[in-house]
Amino acid sequence: MERKGILIVISGFSGAGKGTLVRALMERHDNYVLSVSMTTRAPRPGEREGVEYFFTDREHFEETVAREGLIEYAEYCGNYYGTPRDYVERQLLSGRDVILEIEMQGALKVKEKFPQSLLLFVTPPGAQELRRRLEGRGTESPEVIARRMARAVEESQGIEAYDYVVINDLLEQCVEEVHSIVEAARRAPGRQKAFIGKIREELKEIAKGVQE
Ligand code: ADP
Ligand code: 5GP
Repeated sequence: MERKGILIVISGFSGAGKGTLVRALMERHDNYVLSVSMTTRAPRPGEREGVEYFFTDREHFEETVAREGLIEYAEYCGNYYGTPRDYVERQLLSGRDVILEIEMQGALKVKEKFPQSLLLFVTPPGAQELRRRLEGRGTESPEVIARRMARAVEESQGIEAYDYVVINDLLEQCVEEVHSIVEAARRAPGRQKAFIGKIREELKEIAKGVQE
């Protein structure tokens, strides 16, 4: 069956503001749903089971991979993260646009499996601002922040694999920019097959009438 919704992958350096952006996008527009990932990382203070993540251990995660319960998964800074399959497929079929907030290796796997997915890379306007945001969030130790900044150097090499680069400077502006990109993607011919078929038939009918 045709998937009606758009599968949107949002990646970006840790601290770029992906979570903030996605929350604001969903508050302003009701066409989006967010996929909740499974992870072996420990919950941060305030994180709730089934809301930010489904928290689990390595054994259960590996079992889920083995029964193909995940669309993609990756190891990031020592923990597994993966996208549960059922929810995403159900929502796309029902016409909702599904957001995956995932890192780069996972994003590339999604593009391989679903070539029509839309890959967005979110970045702050500069590296100093990235560090300020990571430090300002206050959720990671200085060591973890250093690892994430080092990881950002590597990730910056992969940006060209994405369809769009989105600079998250002014949040409100960034939200509307992302929404415009999604709306534009809906206009691609691959997503307008029913309309294209209809107008072709109508044109043929009218042209026949003119000839007769
Ligand atoms: P990510 O999900 O990419 O790791 P977060 O959404 O947690 O990033 O944002 C990291 C920090 O940056 C948070 O403290 C957040 O409030 C802040 N932040 C997010 N977007 C902006 C923005 N446009 N301008 C300034 N600060 C921002
Ligand atoms: P955090 O520990 O900060 O919540 O997430 C670390 C990284 O893992 C982020 O870049 C986040 O986007 C990514 N991530 C979260 N869920 C998934 C997932 O299901 N799959 C993949 N590949 N990455 C994920």
